[in-house]
Amino acid sequence: MVSALRVPGERMEAEVAVIGGGVVGLAVAAKLSEGTEGVFLLERRERFGLETSTHNSGVIHSGIHYPPGSLKARLCVRGNALIYQICERYRISHRRTGKLTVAVGEEEMGELERLRRQGEENGVEGLRILEGREVRELEPRLRVEGALCSPSTGIVEPDELMGYFRARASERGAVLMAGTEVTGLRRLEGGYEVRGISWGERFLLRARSVVNCAGLEADRVASLLGMRVEELGYRLHYCKGDYFRFDRPPVRMPVYPVPRGEGLGIHLTPDLGGAVRAGPNAYYVDRPSCTVESDEREFREAIGRFLPSVSEYRLIPEFAGVRPKLQGPGEGFRDFVIRHEEDRGLPGFINLIGIESPGLTASPAIAELVAEIYDREVRG
Ligand SMILES: Cc1cc2nc3c(=O)[nH]c(=O)nc-3n(C[C@H](O)[C@H](O)[C@H](O)COP(=O)(O)OP(=O)(O)OC[C@H]3O[C@@H](n4cnc5c(N)ncnc54)[C@H](O)[C@@H]3O)c2cc1C
Repeated sequence: MVSALRVPGERMEAEVAVIGGGVVGLAVAAKLSEGTEGVFLLERRERFGLETSTHNSGVIHSGIHYPPGSLKARLCVRGNALIYQICERYRISHRRTGKLTVAVGEEEMGELERLRRQGEENGVEGLRILEGREVRELEPRLRVEGALCSPSTGIVEPDELMGYFRARASERGAVLMAGTEVTGLRRLEGGYEVRGISWGERFLLRARSVVNCAGLEADRVASLLGMRVEELGYRLHYCKGDYFRFDRPPVRMPVYPVPRGEGLGIHLTPDLGGAVRAGPNAYYVDRPSCTVESDEREFREAIGRFLPSVSEYRLIPEFAGVRPKLQGPGEGFRDFVIRHEEDRGLPGFINLIGIESPGLTASPAIAELVAEIYDREVRG
């Protein structure tokens, strides 16, 4: 298996250059290499998936949270089904846990009903509203008015999922280059020149098309081609989320509050080893970083609304992740941007920008959509 290839000083020819080897870039490289030879995946870090794709909750979302008709809704629901298929077939560690979205008081019950209707409109199956008594049978430590139960929610080990995409891409002949940062892009007749540094040496690749999967850097990669990211609404805002781990598990399944403000609200998520973490919260920062900066009191207060016994547990700072958001503080919903930029003078250049949650869940469906766009509009 080729996991990294170094060709110092040599000019390489690619059909497609995929920039960014997180879960999305890996899924895209795996899918495109099904029908196309000469797919190159370029990742600046020494290994794949070291950024947002391994700094998240690992939840396979059901699709209740996104407006009907949005890419987030459609690709989440499709990705949810695809991830279970992949996990079951290739024995990737995962668990179909189901999830409870809890209403703390009577006044939040209406919001559960709204989420249920929205989820059903998005095609999420099996949604059911439970009374407080039924919730306690499932999770005895919760004290809530009711909950929306979404049985198709689960958890997956993101590293293993990425390992699957990496293996598929490489067995189909894709060239996977870690340690390779793209620093320049130039439009040429019939393609692009991709420049950068690979393991400390300069490289030059000529690619007929380019797919931008650069996560937190996707706006900067687009600007390498002269795209005016502010005008186009492509400027990314970094929205950080910290996690704390419980010293012992208070619940068995993911428990989310009714969302208020930025993000989905501080929630409880078990991992596959049974440990439970609380988080993420959501606050905007100027620079991405993975260290926990929040005070645990914020977490105790948020969780204490539905888990009054939170004071009996110790919370241990764990890690943080950063969402590449298209919306700034207080702004409304923005959808994923997945777009062939041909009409902006960049034929063969496909941008993926603002791939925040549910990007892990949606990754195989995002890859399908990119392959559809590529087959229909680029390959010709
Ligand atoms: C706190 C948090 C919790 C989340 N929880 C969930 C969840 O439970 N479920 C869910 O479905 N989603 C969740 N998400 C969203 C999910 O993690 C992301 O949508 C997904 O990981 C995005 O993957 P990606 O490949 O686009 O980005 P990344 O993983 O960031 O990958 C992009 C890659 O591009 C590389 N790169 C950047 N610039 C260059 C360059 N110039 N040259 C070469 N390489 C470059 C980077 O090094 C990086 O590896 C969460 C996100 C956060 C922040």
